Amino acid sequence: MLLLGRPIVLILEKNIKEELARTKVVPKLATILVGNNPSSETYVRMKVKACARVGIDSISYHLNTETTQEELLELIRKLNHDQEVDGILLQHPIPSHLDERDAFNKIHIDKDVDGVTTTGFGNMALGMDANPSCTPAAIMKLLKHYKIQVEGKHAVVIGRSPILGKPMASLLLNANATVTICHSYTEGLEQIVSTADIVIAAVGKPNFVKGSWIKEGAVVIDAGYNGGNVGDVDFESCLEKASAITPVPGGVGPITIATLLYQTVLSASKRKKENSN
Ligand code: NAP
Repeated sequence: MLLLGRPIVLILEKNIKEELARTKVVPKLATILVGNNPSSETYVRMKVKACARVGIDSISYHLNTETTQEELLELIRKLNHDQEVDGILLQHPIPSHLDERDAFNKIHIDKDVDGVTTTGFGNMALGMDANPSCTPAAIMKLLKHYKIQVEGKHAVVIGRSPILGKPMASLLLNANATVTICHSYTEGLEQIVSTADIVIAAVGKPNFVKGSWIKEGAVVIDAGYNGGNVGDVDFESCLEKASAITPVPGGVGPITIATLLYQTVLSASKRKKENSN
């Protein structure tokens, strides 16, 4: 079975439009892009376009590569205090002379619609109310939509980044999967992957996961997105073994964007409710 993102995007966008009609709120997302990474520019452009499509306002800040930490933090502070802004997206990665973790953590928790703050991560990991990081949240929505059993299953997550692998493992654990996290120091990766009922590839290496590693009938989720629209999974060989698999493009990516929009709308509704109390 091909696990397409589109049906989930349509449901999320319908829910968003209904919520906007119900609350009469026009949410506002502030996007911050630092430097000239072409992929990041494309991602931000796609997110801004998606906002417009569903009726979310957005305001974009494009800072130059030489931006200092203090200048970046000053912008985040300003947006934290701006009553018009419901969500702040700092596009990852930012230039290496900047401290990304410090910048993420300066985003007010109520405006952390991309699930990047340490506090948000902690709350999510403990199963408390929080916006999870958007890609892992998108993958959970995909698994749910296609009725893929997670509970009791062995999920192997390849990658342990703060925005993808680690939150992914926590969300799967909270959904009662038995989770193994693999990374660049893992010994016997292929053998571990071959025991997985669900494989999540979040490696950042094109066509990395091979069909020969996959257990017959396993579910293969490709979170990767590399140059030339290539995922982290060798699609053709994995397709032969998997009972279900996400394509790249058209799998996890579009749901990630719709999740960001959805979390922005929830943040706006919550802020409106709190302000009216
Ligand atoms: P990242 O920060 O570079 O992390 C990559 C992870 O893969 C690291 O934990 C690394 O291990 C691990 N790794 C690298 N080589 C490995 C190997 N040979 N064996 C096992 N593990 C290995 O990347 P990321 O930001 O998590 O992104 C991962 C992928 O997801 C990329 O393709 C990215 O483009 C994609 N992505 C997609 C979306 C979307 O919306 N679809 C959003 C974000 C990212 P160490 O920790 O040991 O270094």
